[in-house]
Amino acid sequence: MSLKQELIIMGGGVCGLYAAHTAHEASAKVTLLEKAERTGGLADGHQHQGNWYDLGVHMLHAFDQEIFTVCKEAMGPERIEVPLKSHIKWGNKLYHYPLRGRDILAGISPVTLVRCLVGLFLAELESRFPRRELGSDAESALTELYGAPLYEYFFEGFTERYWGIHPRDLSAEFVRRKMPRLSGVDVIKNLLEKIRLAKPRDVTEGALRFETLHYSRTGSESLPRCLTNQLQKAGVEINLHSPIQKISHNDKVITSVAAAGRNYGNAQNAFLSTIPLPQLINALSPAPPSEVRQAATQLTFKPMTVYALLVKKRKCMEALYTYYRDRIFHRVGEPKNAGLLVKPDDHTTLIVEMTCEKDDSKWKGDALKQVLTDLAAEGLCEPDQVVSHHLIHSEHAYPIFAKGFEEHLQTITDYLARFNNLRTTGRQGGFTYPNMHKAMRMGADAVTELLES
Ligand SMILES: Cc1cc2nc3c(=O)[nH]c(=O)nc-3n(C[C@H](O)[C@H](O)[C@H](O)COP(=O)(O)OP(=O)(O)OC[C@H]3O[C@@H](n4cnc5c(N)ncnc54)[C@H](O)[C@@H]3O)c2cc1C
Repeated sequence: MSLKQELIIMGGGVCGLYAAHTAHEASAKVTLLEKAERTGGLADGHQHQGNWYDLGVHMLHAFDQEIFTVCKEAMGPERIEVPLKSHIKWGNKLYHYPLRGRDILAGISPVTLVRCLVGLFLAELESRFPRRELGSDAESALTELYGAPLYEYFFEGFTERYWGIHPRDLSAEFVRRKMPRLSGVDVIKNLLEKIRLAKPRDVTEGALRFETLHYSRTGSESLPRCLTNQLQKAGVEINLHSPIQKISHNDKVITSVAAAGRNYGNAQNAFLSTIPLPQLINALSPAPPSEVRQAATQLTFKPMTVYALLVKKRKCMEALYTYYRDRIFHRVGEPKNAGLLVKPDDHTTLIVEMTCEKDDSKWKGDALKQVLTDLAAEGLCEPDQVVSHHLIHSEHAYPIFAKGFEEHLQTITDYLARFNNLRTTGRQGGFTYPNMHKAMRMGADAVTELLES
């Protein structure tokens, strides 16, 4: 086993930053290349007229103690603790989010309620005798998990609206990774908890009911900025405005990376990519075989637009953020409720999130009128209270688990396996859905494997 001494990291989101930390701790020389003017990726903040806006309110979870300790030290006094309080609007009422069984079933007619409950219990029963794999598309997986009535009542419309794709065209993997697990047993347990015949369950990752989150007075930007400062002080080279242009190889190893007119690395170095997987494939030179390039075109991402608003009102909602099912936006966050400093202090900011397509009307900002109408209908603020607005975009907000994506991912993974000194990881590079701490853990694991390969 050899320990490589030099690592080139492509992409400076939290995954790339934590990978740089891990490599530096292992005494490797690290160079990080980031295309944007700041590090942070999805977790970066955006300043507008003196206030900070997140790309969707971003808070750190403390589930991974090792990662949390590093982030805590890097952020120092900038870190603030925030009790989780998130809601979902459902049937004209606000419920705790993630949804609990009784919440989904609340507010519906008794006949539909009985149908949904019977469907849920039958689905649960069937899944136990005998145990079987979920169907290959999200529609059959959801029906098998929750029963047809609940699927038709809740999941079908919600999923299609959110993703712009019918569940029958999404992979079952999407259900495993993205949807809250609901079972007949959960419904009963939750009811017993409510009438105090059972103790509330412990917090486990994925069932976030009583969690403390970590944030800052300037929003999410603090964490990547503090990590970046710490790395730079330690001698890590971080090059901004450096989009990856070419990744050269000899079919066995990566030989160098070109970014912003400069070449980095050689065949003895290690390379870690956290940039979107299709971009990695397209940058490889010589180009990979056509089936690999074709597979890369099949891995697509759902873009997102945030309407970032400054509102002349002290407070708009009780929660840190609220999910909506029937509005143009799917989530609205009010980071002031998590401690964000807003200027002037009798104002607040709203982070209005919606999935979209690149260059559609939402992306271009033409949805503002509908946003204001829907915010007013939800009682959050009136149009004349919105002092300013601007847009924040992400082209790569969510990897789309379209039906059959696993095969394309496998084709790419099999091809990349030939490059002993390259790993691809993180949300974009792994084509998956981690939270920040999980993306950081992916970066750390990839570095450990890479440096020792
Ligand atoms: C709306 C929303 C809300 C979220 N909220 C939370 C939350 O509250 N808590 C939580 O823990 N997680 C949250 N997440 C998840 C979290 O943001 C991500 O999983 C995590 O930030 C991913 O980090 P990453 O480094 O893997 O990817 P990214 O953040 O996407 O980083 C990739 C980096 O690569 C750079 N790059 C791309 N192409 C190139 C190129 N060609 N050359 C050079 N650089 C390039 C990008 O600019 C970017 O900096 C949220 C995600 C979304 C979309």
